[in-house]
Amino acid sequence: MIDRLLQLRQATEEAVRKVNDIEALNEIKVKVLGRKGELTNLLRGLKDLSGESKVEAGKTANDIKNILENMIEEKASDIKTREMERKLLEERIDVSLPGLPLQTGGLHPISRVTREIQNIFIGMGFAVAEGPEIESDYYNFAALNVPKDHPARDMQDTFYISEDILLRTHTSPVQVRTMEKVAPQIPVKIIVPGKVYRKDDDATHSPMFNQVEGLVIDEHITFGDLKGTLMMFAHQIFGEDVKVRYRPSFFPFTEPSAEMDISCVICKGDGCRVCSHTGWLEILGAGMVHPQVLINGGYDPEKVSGFAFGMGIERIAMLKYGINDLRLFFDNDKRFLTQF
Ligand SMILES: [Zn+2]
Repeated sequence: MIDRLLQLRQATEEAVRKVNDIEALNEIKVKVLGRKGELTNLLRGLKDLSGESKVEAGKTANDIKNILENMIEEKASDIKTREMERKLLEERIDVSLPGLPLQTGGLHPISRVTREIQNIFIGMGFAVAEGPEIESDYYNFAALNVPKDHPARDMQDTFYISEDILLRTHTSPVQVRTMEKVAPQIPVKIIVPGKVYRKDDDATHSPMFNQVEGLVIDEHITFGDLKGTLMMFAHQIFGEDVKVRYRPSFFPFTEPSAEMDISCVICKGDGCRVCSHTGWLEILGAGMVHPQVLINGGYDPEKVSGFAFGMGIERIAMLKYGINDLRLFFDNDKRFLTQF
């Protein structure tokens, strides 16, 4: 009897030592200590013994029962502790790891150049004005001396909403809009940045693009003021060594009118592909405000005069950053945009 008890003890201890999970440990517990377990069965056999050997066997059986119970309990808490440690290790957060980078936005190159142009003119005392992109025929054309049948309309064919409502083809409508608001006050010194629309779509033209308009009205304004202002602008945006020239041109709302060129920023005037080997780049149109436009805006051309100019912001940005396709500005490709 005692031998069988000792054998059971040894076998059980070995099994408990090897076990690694709580379910298997419980199985051992049931198999040995349960109501139909091996030790319980042996204890039932005690009643067949007698005297000394019964007492001795009973005591040994009880000791072994206690030893095994304690051993199983210890093993259970051991397994639980290890399980907990394993979980903690798995779920540990390494606070020293670098964080996930936040994607920060930036200014679009067109916004960047618009602000730069604005700041240059604000520095010369200009105010910033704005006007609607959906414009009437009157402000877009008629008030600027472009009647219905005028051939200049063909160059600025746009998107019509109705017979008399259209998407503005230039920022110039804000000239007469501003004059109407402030006339006969002088001086008027505004720049007008904004989106404009034309039926064009190729590598150098887009159906939507950005312009900056400029308008100055005061007593004794001459073409000399125009030249001085725009030369100062060219030097500030493209550098002091840039040369400027004017070529006669035609706009219905200025008289006389001119195109302003700068010496090529790529080849410094020697001639290259960008400047079509002329050494010059056209950057804006300008002129003295036409007397009829002054009258339309509520000013007396006998008392005041003015100059106006307009430039495409994309064109300035392309020359400034050496970009050869206008459409890159509108593709929203981050590989392009993050370079600015
Ligand atoms: Zn060139």
